[in-house]
Amino acid sequence: MPRLAGAVLALALIAGAGSAQADTLVDNIRGETIGADGTLQTFTALLFDDSGVIRAVYRPGDSVPRQGRKGYQYHIDGKGHVLLPGLIDAHVHIVKTGFALLTLDLSDTNSLDEALAKIAAYARAHPDRPWITGRGWNQERWQLGRFPTAAELDRAVPDRPVWLVRVDGHAGWANSAALNLAKVTAATPTPDGGVIERLAGGAPAGVLVDRATALVANAVPAPNPRDIDLALMTAERGFARAGITAVADMGTTLNDWLAFRRAGDANRLYVRIMSYAMGTEAMAAICGSGPTPWLYTDRLRMGGVKLYMDGALGSRGAWLKAPYTDQPDSRGTPLLTETQLGNLMSRAAMDGYQVAVHALGDKAGATVLTTITDLTHTYTGDRRWRIEHAQVVDPADWPLVAGIAAHGGVVASMQPVHQPSDRTMAEARLGPARLAGAYAWASLKRQGAVLAFGSDSPVERPDPWAGIAAALTRQDASGAPEGGWQPQERVDRVTALAGYTSAAAYAGFAEARFGRIAPGLRADFVLVDTDPMTATPDAIRHTKVWQTWVGGGKTWDADHPDGEVAAVVKRP
Ligand SMILES: [Zn+2]
Repeated sequence: MPRLAGAVLALALIAGAGSAQADTLVDNIRGETIGADGTLQTFTALLFDDSGVIRAVYRPGDSVPRQGRKGYQYHIDGKGHVLLPGLIDAHVHIVKTGFALLTLDLSDTNSLDEALAKIAAYARAHPDRPWITGRGWNQERWQLGRFPTAAELDRAVPDRPVWLVRVDGHAGWANSAALNLAKVTAATPTPDGGVIERLAGGAPAGVLVDRATALVANAVPAPNPRDIDLALMTAERGFARAGITAVADMGTTLNDWLAFRRAGDANRLYVRIMSYAMGTEAMAAICGSGPTPWLYTDRLRMGGVKLYMDGALGSRGAWLKAPYTDQPDSRGTPLLTETQLGNLMSRAAMDGYQVAVHALGDKAGATVLTTITDLTHTYTGDRRWRIEHAQVVDPADWPLVAGIAAHGGVVASMQPVHQPSDRTMAEARLGPARLAGAYAWASLKRQGAVLAFGSDSPVERPDPWAGIAAALTRQDASGAPEGGWQPQERVDRVTALAGYTSAAAYAGFAEARFGRIAPGLRADFVLVDTDPMTATPDAIRHTKVWQTWVGGGKTWDADHPDGEVAAVVKRP
């Protein structure tokens, strides 16, 4: 490293001899960005400075500076690629994304038997691991018609504890060894906001939902800081490869935050992180009395808190107004009372934090919307209240969105790929009458919500291109269903691109720093082979990312996929 620092210093001195700045020109591109006014703008070149800030954007006919003493010093030939602002994923779980890549991944399994075989093989390949952990199973994808059981998992791994988180993160599947170690028995009371699936005699069946998952999760040895750092780096590389330059981390724990800080201190934050604390306790422990400043040249900030109103549809934890169509004795489970929600939101808003609330079912959505409406009278100003997922919002409650939009602003943080992934499951859970309010992107936008798009990674792969394709079509990768599902909720191309760039930055109070290509903003951009404004949705889905740049430093280069990430953090 000292040698490298010396070389950089020498370079800076040479550049300094001729000019105060070492600017870089990017040309031979087809540039597209959302403008400050929300419309699409095109350009043919851009100039950024030594500190990774955009200085100028050139349109056809503009005079572009020349290389040399009075012009720019470095040159990037875009080779005719499409240049877009770096993509922003407005809802991820970074550290979990890394661990999902590093541990057992069941998201590609199509049956219980296939999953059990994969689990057994993984356990054999990792004889040193005291616990087998992983995630990604989905009994819906397996067409099992019920949850899997501990007894079935015992067949794959009888001798060691196993704990596997469901694809949506809202349920876990334990084997008998894990249940024994965690002391979950027939006598264990069901916690509020949770479900323990039970056998006829009351003994735990193996799957625990929402708040009950902690009973086993707390018995799993916590990862050490070195593991968390590795998970963070693994996730960052995955994001960079997909063209992602910034994310909102929805539920940062104290240990996650310490890993972000270690990465920042070591110049290894390759993706900007807009962090939302996992609950008000983590928020206060990390921030003290208010949001943190932007740290590491706009690479990290904790600006808000994430709260959970309910669980997920797949595990029937989403809180509904009327019973589940496929389980008439259940309306799901609220994780907070209305009073608790109001108190937690108040506590955060009082100190100037942004509040993001997970709400999936229509009852959860209505509760969050009415609570926000009440709070807008006390906590005025630019608040940008965030609803995460907003998967089912009763059309009768849509006008509440318009009210909040007019008083403090409202962000609908939605994940386009959830819609095709969940389609048949959602139809079974909700029945036909409630589908008009499901994944209602266009309708919520019409009420004044700002649409910020993301993946909920590791629930879905952090692939903004698949997300844009889904947003435009309401179809899955195979083009089903014909004409799109509830096609009235499709969005146009500019809205889709904004959802992954400018609007996602706005959703994190970052619009003056990144999210567009404009002078004064950070030079975060991608060079890709496909134009999202003209290509077919299928071509967009298969977009190849050639290069990803964050703050004027390269974080991904498809020509050198295994190469070290460049020294991305330039002088502040
Ligand atoms: Zn999430």
